[in-house]
This record gives sequence, C-alpha cells and structure tokens, in this order.
Amino acid sequence: MRELSSIQPDDDHFHDECGVFGICGHEDAAAHTALGLHALQHRGQEAAGIVSADGVHFHSHRSAGLVGDNFSSEEVIGRLQGSMAIGHNRYSTAGETVARNIQPLFADFEFGGLAIGHNGNLTNAYSLRRALVERGCIFQSTTDTEIIVHLIAISGYSTVVDRMIDALRQVEGAYSLVALTNSALIGVRDPMGVRPLVLGRLEGSYVLCSETCALDIIGAEFVRDVDPGEIVVIDGDGIRSVKPFSKTPQRLCIFEYIYFARPDSTVENRNVYEIRKEIGAELARETSVEADVVVPVPDSGVPAAIGYAQQAGIPFDLGIIRNHYVGRTFIEPTHQIRHLGVRLKHNANAGHLKDKRVVLVDDSIVRGTTSEKIVAMVRGAGAREVHMRISSPPTSHSCFYGIDTPQQEELLAAQYDVEAMAKHIGADSLSFISIDGLYRAFGETGRNDTPQFCDACFSGDYPIPLTDRDGGPMPAQLSLLTEQE
Ligand code: AMP
Repeated sequence: MRELSSIQPDDDHFHDECGVFGICGHEDAAAHTALGLHALQHRGQEAAGIVSADGVHFHSHRSAGLVGDNFSSEEVIGRLQGSMAIGHNRYSTAGETVARNIQPLFADFEFGGLAIGHNGNLTNAYSLRRALVERGCIFQSTTDTEIIVHLIAISGYSTVVDRMIDALRQVEGAYSLVALTNSALIGVRDPMGVRPLVLGRLEGSYVLCSETCALDIIGAEFVRDVDPGEIVVIDGDGIRSVKPFSKTPQRLCIFEYIYFARPDSTVENRNVYEIRKEIGAELARETSVEADVVVPVPDSGVPAAIGYAQQAGIPFDLGIIRNHYVGRTFIEPTHQIRHLGVRLKHNANAGHLKDKRVVLVDDSIVRGTTSEKIVAMVRGAGAREVHMRISSPPTSHSCFYGIDTPQQEELLAAQYDVEAMAKHIGADSLSFISIDGLYRAFGETGRNDTPQFCDACFSGDYPIPLTDRDGGPMPAQLSLLTEQE
C-alpha cells in the first residue's frame, strides 16, 4: 500500500511493505488478528488496524503505533465483535501517517460493507486516480488502495467477487489483499505473486496472512501459499478459488528472502532462514578473504553471516549488539534522525573485535548510512581490518512494487562502483554476492532469461509496467487537507 502523494519525483521517503492478516469462522477473530499482526510487526510499525464483522455490522479500530500498544486491551478487542476480521500493519513515512490513511480501509457499497487491507504498490495508481476524480469520485485518503475501492464501487458487476475482479483487471502493480464483507473473507495475490500471502487453518476456521510466522503465533496449521493471480473466497460454505487473470510467469520479490520476511517464515516452500544461510555460504564462496572473525550486522545480517562463517571456516561472533527497542532505521523520516537511529541501534562488543581482521556481513546497502556507521564503530573498537560482505547484489534501482527504496540517485550503488563504495563506507574491502550467486543459493544454476523472482532492485528488469513513472510528472499533492495526528 503506497500513498499516492508520495510518488513524486523529489520524494525520498520509504513507505510501504505492509503486513496483512484475515480470519474467518472463529469466535475470537479480533484477538487472533491482533496476535497475527503482532507476528507481522516487522512488516510495518507505523500504524495498525483491525476491522471485524459480525454478520450485520462492521467494527473498526485503527491507530498509529505498534500492535501491542493498540490492541492489547480487552476493551478494544471486545469491541471488535464477530467471527471474521482482517488486519493491517502499515509501514510509511511519519508525514503521511494520518488517520484517514490507516488500513484496513472501509466503505459502504450498494451491496453492503467492504473492508480492505493491501500489501504492495500499484504502478498505475496516479493514472487511475486522475480518471476516477474526473468521473466524480471523491477520495478520502491518499493511499493507492482506495483506487481499488472506487473501482469496485463503480463496477457494473453485481457480486462482490466479480466487482473485485473487474477492479483488479484495471490495476497494475503488486498486491496481496485481504478483504472482508459481512459474510466472507477474501484474499487475492497479484498475477505475478510479487508479495507473499498464505492460507492456514485453525480449529475449523481459515486464516490468510502475509507470512507463516503469523500462523505459528496462533497455533494455526499452514495449508498452502495463495497462488499468484488467485482469489480465495472463504465463507460459511467453505473455501473456493477463482483464477480470473491470464497466466503470467511468477515473480515473487527476492528481497522478501533477503531482508523483509521473518527468518522463521516459509515463503513459497522455502524457509527464509535456510535461504539466508545459503546466500551467506554462496557469498563466502564468491568473496573469500583471510579473517579472524565473521560478525553480522544484527539482526538482518545474522543468518547470512552464519552461512558465511560455516562455509569459510572462520569463527562467528556477535561483535555488534543491537538495542531491540529502536525501530528499523528507515522508519525515521529525516536524514538527520536516520543517522542518529543507527547510533542508537548498535554498539560494538569490543572484546570480539579488538586487533581482529573482521568480516562484517549485512544483507544490503541502500544509502550506505548503516555500513558507514558500523564500519567506523568496528574500527573504533580496535579491529585491524574490516571487510564488508553483502548478501545481496548492489541495490542499484528503486522498487515500485511495495518495498519503497529511495530515488535512484540516492542509492549508493547507483552513484558509485564497488571500489568507490568501499571507500565511501571506509572498509578495507567490500564485496556483494553476484546475481547468479544469489540464484544459486535457491538451487538454480544462475539467473536465466526467465528468472523466477522479481529482482528489479538489482537488475533493473521491471516485470510489471511502470505506467505512472513513465507517464510524466505527478502532481505535487493529491489532497489539500493537512491533518494533525
Ligand atoms: P542503508 O543504511 O541506507 O545502506 O540501508 C541498509 C540497511 O537497511 C541494511 O542494514 C538493511 O538491513 C536495511 N534495509 C534494507 N532495505 C530496507 C528497507 N527497504 N527498509 C528498511 N530497512 C532496509
């Protein structure tokens, strides 16, 4: 889910990656949704919302902040009545975290109420929004998700599923959706399956969620991944599946494995932790260096560093300790605070660094802020040499499908070659896994002509058209209303 107002040429904020959850047929639907969202907290920490349905009415609670802060009171959960619920964790910039943008969105239609939660990003959102506004649609938020709501409202079809199909045939981009009517839970994955969505079961009820870790927390059993291009409809009659889109090759986001998904999740039959270790091992094969210790940049670099250390036969140690009470770096909105954020977040464990030749392993370099700070910190703790190893190829292109990377010019790898990047971050050496090496970690021989993943952030090969980006400048703002939290 992306704020449309953010798709501006001069915008450098990080937005979306969100987490979605839905459950149908459980007397504690809202409480389970809160737990599911808690397990998906890493996918969005700015705001959370739950909408439940009791067969007649819908009940909603949406609020800025963490799930635990907003959904731990019995009073809040008690008000979210009904045996069906959906929830959403939002990851966005502070400036746009206004109440009206917090999901799930809800609207009253001719056919009844519908709540919707979206993980992903639409790439023709602005073009569609402009056309809808010209037709007289009045937008209440600046999120691209609301476009789907309007397209459903004006569809000439009668059933909600047909209206959704009609709407989704007009949108381009990446979307994993959960939607709720007063009688059904609906889940959808875009035709390429860029974002994950899984189906589970709990005591006769069905669950939909972004990652399997949200099934584990409530003791639900994993059934299967929702297929790319599949719509699952769950109601009192059970579950049915519709595949209304023309078949296209699958392109799951490879960055889910590298960074975003939780390591204890299994995405499309592959355990994220095991994949990260494999990537680390491949990285060691490709970029070996004489060293005394392998140190991860916690937490995201840990599994790859374990794989690296095992493959290279170099001892592994936690030479950097992370303070867990600070959010992910990118959530901080300004450059100045991002800088500060890194210092707040990590500290050197000097005893394991002093006089050592250190291999530092992290999952990615985006702007280079983290690496620069960490390398200086490790040197400051007395390391003799610092060799930075990155378990992804250089991030040289922005993502338009839901992992909001900065404008391309701000990506370190778009400005410098690897040698210059090493100098910039102050490392004795810097190496990235190659794109073929990355695919080898998945058991492939390399990246072939029909890659199974979306790796646009590394390759620039965008599998879904970038209609808005290529269509000229976006307006400076989409709404004239400024809101206070
Ligand atoms: P940077 O400091 O700008 O180079 O960002 C790289 C660090 O941010 C790495 O430690 C990653 O674990 C983390 N990271 C990479 N991509 C993202 C993202 N899209 N959102 C939040 N954190 C990220």
